[in-house]
Amino acid sequence: MPDLSKQGPDNLPPLRDVIAAYDLAPKKSLGQNFLFDLNLTRKIARAAGAEDGGVFYEVGPGPGGLTRALLAEGADKVIAVERDARCLPALADIAAAYPGKLEVVSGDALELDEAALVPQGVRVAANLPYNVGTAILIKWLTAPAWPPVWASLTLMFQKEVAQRITAPPGGAHYGRLSVLAQWRCTAKILFDVNRGAFVPPPSVTSSIVRLEPRPEPLAPCALSDLERITAAAFGQRRKMLRQSLKPLGGEALLAKAGIDPTMRPEDLTIAQFAALARALP
Ligand code: SAM
Repeated sequence: MPDLSKQGPDNLPPLRDVIAAYDLAPKKSLGQNFLFDLNLTRKIARAAGAEDGGVFYEVGPGPGGLTRALLAEGADKVIAVERDARCLPALADIAAAYPGKLEVVSGDALELDEAALVPQGVRVAANLPYNVGTAILIKWLTAPAWPPVWASLTLMFQKEVAQRITAPPGGAHYGRLSVLAQWRCTAKILFDVNRGAFVPPPSVTSSIVRLEPRPEPLAPCALSDLERITAAAFGQRRKMLRQSLKPLGGEALLAKAGIDPTMRPEDLTIAQFAALARALP
């Protein structure tokens, strides 16, 4: 148990003391870059809507900086999944400080069936581990049921990933992730977080992204067909679509969808990708 003589505003000790007391040296293999700055974690918690109360789902609470901020800002409950069992005693201290408000699940967020764990309408807030953050987002975006169990995602990513998620057509960041994310959600970057805010500092700037599910995808088509089209088109992003989409029907497919065969994938809107997906045999 850390020294409780130096308690913070939530009657819990400073995170640096928690890390030292429980010997939580950050592990690169688990994407561990911890946030200690209370002003910053509270800003993220507010961006996720914690002031309005409700239930939150957090992936990777680590020593609990964001968890504490969510609870301090007004979350009624946080359900948190952490893969590193070393963090469990620190999280148990937070659960004791907020009785009945923190449920910690020891496990891998990539493997979990969240629909069985969290209530409908849960809001997700997480400083995701960089090594699996994109995979976790894709898992959420490709949920078979839509609208999904979550009402919003407020997530930290490397800035470059945040730019790919939110990119409009016409630029280098626009790609498969942009189409998938914006087909099913609205997505925007809320603010950047300097690398110096983390312990240890990652090599690049980070950004907080907010995604909200659209009630219906932006244009009708099957998810699997959309993924086939975007994989083929962006797999050869410098090529014209008549070339890259040859294995899926080439010029005939493009004519059926009403799309100029000399276009390149980065110039297509999401609605045009959906039209191509619908035109697949
Ligand atoms: N939330 C803390 C913060 O903001 O300081 C820690 C964030 S750190 C970037 C990512 C956390 O995710 C680490 O605690 C790591 O152990 C955890 N983690 C990594 N892979 C995970 C997985 N597959 N499932 C659940 N947690 C994971």
